[in-house]
Amino acid sequence: MHSVLVTGGSRGIGRATALLAAAKGWSVAVNYVGNAGAAEDVVTEITAAGGKAAAVRGDVADEADVVAIYDAAERELGPLTGVVANAGIVAPSRPLVEIGLDRMRRIFEVNTIGAYLTAREAARRLAKSRGGPGGSIVLVSSMAARLGSPFEYVDYAGSKAAVDTLTIGLAKEMGGEGVRVNAVRPGLIETEIHASGGQPDRARRLGVGSPLGRAGRAEEVAEAILWLLGDASSYVTGGFIDVSGGR
Ligand code: NAP
Repeated sequence: MHSVLVTGGSRGIGRATALLAAAKGWSVAVNYVGNAGAAEDVVTEITAAGGKAAAVRGDVADEADVVAIYDAAERELGPLTGVVANAGIVAPSRPLVEIGLDRMRRIFEVNTIGAYLTAREAARRLAKSRGGPGGSIVLVSSMAARLGSPFEYVDYAGSKAAVDTLTIGLAKEMGGEGVRVNAVRPGLIETEIHASGGQPDRARRLGVGSPLGRAGRAEEVAEAILWLLGDASSYVTGGFIDVSGGR
């Protein structure tokens, strides 16, 4: 059986990904940073349905934590063949002129450094030349990387543009290692992330203006992630799926 680590698997897109992965037969390590109850709920839902899962705490922006997350996941589930680098944060909407350094640093630490550390550890453990089993890495970027998020969070948009670049470069590094590297770029998806940015209704309000006329659901993003994660996408690497309703 294949095992996958989902960072930020306790809520939102990560939670939907963990549940769909389990439904498709993956064992799932559900990473979280503060919300142990939400992570345990995901684990309980998976195990109640006959699947295998474990909750693993750790901050993706912390190098030692990232190593510990992988160690715990492999202790519980055996060697990983899949990693979904999903953990991410936003901050309240502001034009750049009003964005302070502490906030910029934290956004880049979690979204960019967190993704790079998560992907680096995946590359170290999955690469065939290092004794790994090969596998698939999926990074969760954002349409913000292409749209720039003016007057909302250009810092967040830049932190995700770096994730796009990581996807392109790491896919080329890992092509001969039996590891594929791809990304999804969600658009306006109804999760709690918008409340954490001070606008609980943001996805619903702005989603109406997208070509498909509505916000997306976490489960719709999870479908794209699982396709990239599994063998159905066996000839796809360095690729992107925009799950944004055409935005
Ligand atoms: P969410 O509902 O706010 O969930 C965030 C998840 O990330 C939670 O599981 C949280 O854990 C975890 N997390 C946050 N900081 C972490 C850290 N430092 N280390 C480890 N885990 C951490 O967010 P979401 O909307 O599902 O977003 C998931 C990803 O999709 C993010 O990368 C986000 O940027 C991206 N995205 C979302 C949207 C959207 O509209 N929702 C659009 C584009 C891209 P706790 O439960 O412990 O707090």
